[in-house]
Amino acid sequence: PVADDLIVVSNRQPYTHSYEHDDAGERTISVNRPAGGLTAGLDPVMQETDGTWVAWGDGEADADVTDSNGEVRMPPESEAYTLKRLWLSEEEVEGYYYGYSNRVLWPLCHGGTMKTEYVERYWQRYQQVNDRFAEAVAESASDDPLVWFQDYHFTLAPRAVRDALDDPFIMHFWHITWPGWDTFRACPQGEQLLEGLLGNDLLGFHVERYCENFLDCVDRALDDAFIDEDGGRINYEGHTTTVRAFPLGIDAESIREESAAADASFEADIRSTYGIGADTTMIVGVDRLDYTKGIVERLEALERLWEIEPEYQGTVTYVQKASESRSLIPDYQDLQQNVRETIERINDRFGTDDWQPVVYIDEFIPQSELCGLYRYSDVMLVSAVRDGMNLVAKEYVAAQVDDDGVLVLSDQAGAHEELGEHALTINPYDTESFADTIQQALAMAPDERRNRMAALRERVASHDLYAWMDDVFETARDLREQRDHDGG
Ligand code: UDP
Repeated sequence: PVADDLIVVSNRQPYTHSYEHDDAGERTISVNRPAGGLTAGLDPVMQETDGTWVAWGDGEADADVTDSNGEVRMPPESEAYTLKRLWLSEEEVEGYYYGYSNRVLWPLCHGGTMKTEYVERYWQRYQQVNDRFAEAVAESASDDPLVWFQDYHFTLAPRAVRDALDDPFIMHFWHITWPGWDTFRACPQGEQLLEGLLGNDLLGFHVERYCENFLDCVDRALDDAFIDEDGGRINYEGHTTTVRAFPLGIDAESIREESAAADASFEADIRSTYGIGADTTMIVGVDRLDYTKGIVERLEALERLWEIEPEYQGTVTYVQKASESRSLIPDYQDLQQNVRETIERINDRFGTDDWQPVVYIDEFIPQSELCGLYRYSDVMLVSAVRDGMNLVAKEYVAAQVDDDGVLVLSDQAGAHEELGEHALTINPYDTESFADTIQQALAMAPDERRNRMAALRERVASHDLYAWMDDVFETARDLREQRDHDGG
């Protein structure tokens, strides 16, 4: 096992419980399983180590299945580890989640300082919730725990856990970008955020640049920090934090399998469901509706393409799969409206009786269908204006079992560090050259498509989610051994 006492902390939980009504009208409780990604990948690790997973209990029936400590054994059939749920009040959700996490840290880290809202109660509740999570970790910990925090919801908890326990090993993976100093310095709570994160022994980011940005922010904000730039180490108040890049991967094999299983009848089904002609070329985009994804910029580039290359009118359809997100926040409501209006405008402008330029899918589709959509789309557009990694780009690559798709990828996404060489690079703000690049993708010869895609698939398969976890846990093991050696 990776550790005897693994405690994972994330905002979202691996399983939620909800109510269902059977045919007789009886209410039953059902368990919802993780859809995929890191949560699904960590589940077997938790089962192997019999660890504890601490998360916000946000499911309607969550409290019905837990004991008085908020704990329940998971997964239901094997009860191999403990899920510890924290109940958050409405005020805490508003301040910690919608407030400080998503209206301060999210825009700040994506370089959107103009969107940040420094409301005092957001900060108060963010601190309060971080303290509560730290207490829950301390309660669950044995003598020598390995604590693993996920993401920007928990900048302060690592320091609090370090203060509460006797030399725990704490690590943290930051799933979004870390901004440069000139952006970060706008944050009034900057010092506290950095001090909180320096409670970790190991702090991981997706790419080297975010690590450099973090070291630079610490260097400028904290006078007492000693920085070893080459070794990626920071010593602050007698404690050392190692900062390293671990580019997150996907479960490439499971995507490949699901894509391979989506046969020609599947393709015929999607085409008939969405009214896309058999000979029409499909371009695809898949995003959570977030202003960092560059969705409107992408639609404008497509509009420009249909304008300058009328041969693509009637022959190329863009499929936008989108899922609503953080809809209580006005910036997200504005984006949803903007996306809808832009699509309507383009469809009104170019659409004909038998061709709709943009098809919008906002309902949930299962992973198997998503993989089929990836497979049968000739081109994927990823145009994030800023994105920590962008896993969708990797999923599209893993689904190209026929090696015939082209990935158009923004140089503002972390994934570009790994995939940029064999994808077609765009700047999402440069509409004119973005449109040219889409045209280049559409016109690309089969040989070039195959060569590029084979190289991309190789990269995504060899640096998958499991390689990533091995890398993180091995680094943690080395650092722990070193700590025990130095301590002894
Ligand atoms: N996703 C999905 N349906 C959607 C949009 C996104 O299932 O309509 C999934 C997608 O397959 C991927 C994840 O959500 O696994 C998005 O991860 P990514 O890193 O691209 O962006 P994030 O949403 O984390 O910012």
